[in-house]
Amino acid sequence: MSERDGSNQDGVRRVLAVFAHPDDIDFGAAGTVAAWTAAGIEVAYLLVTRGDAGGFDDTPRADMPRIREAEQRAAAAAVGVHDVRFLDGYADGAVYVTHQLRRDITRQIRRFRPDRLLTNSPTRNWTMLGGPSHPDHQAVGEAATYAVYPDARNPFAHPDLLAEEGLEAWTVPEVWYSGVPEPDHFVDVTDTFEQKIAALRSHASQLPDPDGMVAGLRERFGAMARRAGLPDGRLAEAFTIAR
Ligand SMILES: [Zn+2]
Repeated sequence: MSERDGSNQDGVRRVLAVFAHPDDIDFGAAGTVAAWTAAGIEVAYLLVTRGDAGGFDDTPRADMPRIREAEQRAAAAAVGVHDVRFLDGYADGAVYVTHQLRRDITRQIRRFRPDRLLTNSPTRNWTMLGGPSHPDHQAVGEAATYAVYPDARNPFAHPDLLAEEGLEAWTVPEVWYSGVPEPDHFVDVTDTFEQKIAALRSHASQLPDPDGMVAGLRERFGAMARRAGLPDGRLAEAFTIAR
């Protein structure tokens, strides 16, 4: 299944994107996010870390979290997203599926009340090193899935969220996974690709060769479009959807 643009969204009004690191959303899904915001959908980002283990040069390590937070906020603005939150207490490279992470994501689900959640793939491609197959990605995808079901919808899960913070149970009807080994849903992002590139270029601290990256991405997302059966010259992002 593929869609030409973000207009056919089945009444979706709010999407919460939960990802491990700054730039994950932009590599995998920013073209789709741009289509959603253009269609009037409110999108919020929740980043579990500030990507403090990233980078490629001699930028002082202590500066990296602040730099990457600012880069992610700029990238979000490039695709129409202005609600960007970061969790505290999680280190890049050491994210695990814990009760605390499930509760921290559940808190944001109950606060934002999304109709759709977008997150990292909880499954990895065992034939590929790099890219989406970072253990933090799998941990966040799994924890976010458990936050959707069973946690956020169950008023008796994480009872302090209701008792102390007044956050009522909320059911998220569907989850979109980005960076999946076997996608089953493709979004034509040709028309929003320049916005995606602008978002990606915001992550300057991670890009030793931005122009080379853009060329590589056109190739990769063109191949994805062909896989989706779209005409030559189109570009597509790929997902798996759970309902
Ligand atoms: Zn990442």
